[in-house]
Amino acid sequence: MRPNPPKLSPEERARASAAGVAARRDRSSMKEAVAEGRLTLFEAINDPRESIQRMKVIDLLNSVPGVASIRAQAIMERAGISISRRIGGLGKLQLSALRNEFLLNKEDTPRGALIVMSGPGGVGKSTITSLLRDHPSFWVSISATTRAPRASERDGIDYFFVDDEKFDQMISSDEFLEWAEFAGNRYGTPRTPVENWRNMGKHVVLEIEIAGARQIRNHEKEALLVFISPPSWEELEARLSSRGTDSPERKAARLALAREEMAAATEFDHNLVNSKVEEVAAQLLSLALAHRN
Ligand code: 5GP
Repeated sequence: MRPNPPKLSPEERARASAAGVAARRDRSSMKEAVAEGRLTLFEAINDPRESIQRMKVIDLLNSVPGVASIRAQAIMERAGISISRRIGGLGKLQLSALRNEFLLNKEDTPRGALIVMSGPGGVGKSTITSLLRDHPSFWVSISATTRAPRASERDGIDYFFVDDEKFDQMISSDEFLEWAEFAGNRYGTPRTPVENWRNMGKHVVLEIEIAGARQIRNHEKEALLVFISPPSWEELEARLSSRGTDSPERKAARLALAREEMAAATEFDHNLVNSKVEEVAAQLLSLALAHRN
């Protein structure tokens, strides 16, 4: 409780409460516009309305497509912004740190590349994407899926976990850049964040299975298709067999699927051998830089 709450007349109180309602409305429509990609983070920050300037930076960051709360906190930490900071209280250095995070420091930031990464199960794609997630030049797309979350997975970070009805609705409103069925579940890449992050100069990485990669190849002529291969078939077999407590039938099915996936390698623009994840990440960066338009 504040020690001396201001004494307000009933009229003043009514005015203050109406102003509070209006401010909340401004803030929630701003968050919606940012979340839907109609406004960029920096357009929001530059909005002079008091209601927006008094908004918490973390609330706005959380609305940026693909940022999600854990990432928003990491961005705030790197930019030296305290969690309670409001937009109007951002200092010059903090603003420029934020711009660096979103690669918006140059007016002429070139559009980022669209990289599709596929490869057989067990090849280490998720280790590569987790390395790329922390790399400032990349943004790893977050797919929607009808699969149930695994114990370690978080909604909005690893996937957007949706039910069949929501997935159907996303298909019919053309929200997917591609989607496919895999092992009894559906997976799709939401289109808007991919566009937004590329426009902000990030190289966008889609870690998807082969049918989705083929759709991208057919519809997005400028996409860069990268296949990740194991150092050898024996190595992949060993990695797959050491996974969990699968029955012999399940192991055989995984191997058969991996063999099928390996056969698609020739359809890709580049084939990178995953001997060391750091090397693959460096190769992806140089491919993206050479390729972006
Ligand atoms: P998991 O269920 O193991 O996370 O993923 C199964 C497969 O779905 C993996 O091969 C993964 O690359 C793929 N996948 C994940 N997200 C998408 C997506 O948005 N589209 C497509 N086509 N495949 C995806």
